[in-house]
Amino acid sequence: MTDAPIIQHFIRGIVENDLATGKHSTIATRFPPEPNGYLHIGHAKSICLNFGLARDYQGTCNLRFDDTNPEKESEEYALSIQEDVRWLGFEWNGDVRWASDYFQALYDYAEELIGKGLAYVCDLNAEEMRAYRGTLTEAGRHSPYRDRSVAENLDLFRRMKAGEFPDGSRTLRVKIDMASPNINLRDPVIYRIKRAHHIRTGDQWCIYPMYDYTHCISDALEGITHSLCTLEFEDHRPLYDWVLDNITIACHPRQIEFSRLEMLYTVTSKRKLNQLVMQNFVAGWDDPRMPTVHGMRRRGYTPAGIREFARRIGISKSENVVDMSVLEGCIREDLESAAPRVMAVIKPLKVVLTNYQEGVTAGRAAGFHPNHPEFGERDVPIGPEIWIEADDFSETPPPGWQRLTPGGEARLRYSYVIKCDVAVKDAAGNVVELRCSIDPDTLGQNPVGRKVKGVIHWLAAGHALPAEIRLYDRLFTVPRPDMDKEKDFLEFLNPDSLTVAQGWVEAAVRDAPPETRYQFERLGYFCADRFEHKPGETLVFNRTVGLKDTWSK
Ligand code: ATP
Ligand code: MG
Repeated sequence: MTDAPIIQHFIRGIVENDLATGKHSTIATRFPPEPNGYLHIGHAKSICLNFGLARDYQGTCNLRFDDTNPEKESEEYALSIQEDVRWLGFEWNGDVRWASDYFQALYDYAEELIGKGLAYVCDLNAEEMRAYRGTLTEAGRHSPYRDRSVAENLDLFRRMKAGEFPDGSRTLRVKIDMASPNINLRDPVIYRIKRAHHIRTGDQWCIYPMYDYTHCISDALEGITHSLCTLEFEDHRPLYDWVLDNITIACHPRQIEFSRLEMLYTVTSKRKLNQLVMQNFVAGWDDPRMPTVHGMRRRGYTPAGIREFARRIGISKSENVVDMSVLEGCIREDLESAAPRVMAVIKPLKVVLTNYQEGVTAGRAAGFHPNHPEFGERDVPIGPEIWIEADDFSETPPPGWQRLTPGGEARLRYSYVIKCDVAVKDAAGNVVELRCSIDPDTLGQNPVGRKVKGVIHWLAAGHALPAEIRLYDRLFTVPRPDMDKEKDFLEFLNPDSLTVAQGWVEAAVRDAPPETRYQFERLGYFCADRFEHKPGETLVFNRTVGLKDTWSK
């Protein structure tokens, strides 16, 4: 799939205007994840936006880890994020950046604010601070420590850094306005004391800067022009601007907010995804049912399909709640022409071909894709026993049935027309085997004197290879599992989100490496499992998406 035409949105408008007026000669964006979990589809939207703008306007995009919460962050998460950005098809500008690279600069700016009388060390504990902060309708009150002298503040802040005070006993706050209707401006904390081992700086620091303070300065230090974030940061923008206006720094990026992506029948919150993993409701962050980039990759979604999805959903400030069918549609469109087609049987029913003749009944070569002869072809062998899909036989079919039924005919894909003569049953009355006869005159040609419309997929039992086939359904049973105030989102987990089938596949896929994608004819798109599929040994396929949209029904 080649990337389709640009869809205009308001952030592009701002960028184009800034370039046209000469406000900026080139743009610089950044993607700033916190390494406290794996990326999800919402992050993919943000990645496509930030890296996409840099690509479209010949600018740059940095990858910067917002690593200011040492307790929740890990190297594993940081590595997975880098892998995901690259897998999605993007490359960051220069080295990976870390907010922790700026810890010293951030500290120095804090001293500058103290020196200007704009920051003070506060001894209120968390509970007291909350009480002083006021509410949405009520102004806050000044901290009793607000009027400490510059000298005392400097001394206390240096001693905070030196480790003289216990965790949580003091904070550094900026002095803005305790009566502001915007609570973010009521003397927000910019430093806290926390003795936590940091993934990058180890035990070098026992004070850590807060996100809002760190983010704007990191952006400015990197010369970011457009700092794009989700709407919940709109109320933080005055603080972003206040910090940059009050320190000595040349660059002042413009923060622009857009709405976060949410998807029906799943959750896009790292905290909730973490819960699913930690409590073993899924097999890991990369479980193919997860809306994580790792999960989507393992399921067989393609980077081009995900980028196309991001393009179609667009960027705006209005609610962005999207049905899975939109994402699946993009994946399906990409795979339609990219994936070779083979046959597999998921729920096998044995068929004995009663008039099969060794040396006479013949197999045929079949192309891997009707529109791509360059994909090549393979032999589709036949034998005295074949597997068909159990659902392609019905003893009492509904009207219009074109597949097998006692006395009825159907064509085996790429092969003969067969007729079902006998359905063999077990003691309980279940059909366990069919006996069918081949019409020997129908290999590659229509039967004479009648029309056979139904075509079914099948595999020669003597040639097919066993495969584990994993079928996925939605992870939750309701569209908005996290919107119920009364109930926990875990109560809406779909108990049938994973079905494991022991099926059969064509020998042609025997040596397919992990992550090879196929269309299994009539069944959907499948991907060789990234981790458990062992070419030539253990074949494991994940259903990526069906052939038709079954979500929006
Ligand atoms: P979560 O709510 O899942 O924990 P987060 O915002 O805390 O996400 P970050 O690691 O801080 O996670 O996010 C990195 C970037 O991705 C931020 O710029 C954020 O705005 C963006 N982002 C996160 N979630 C979404 C989403 N659902 N839609 C669009 N962008 C998102
Ligand atoms: Mg965040």
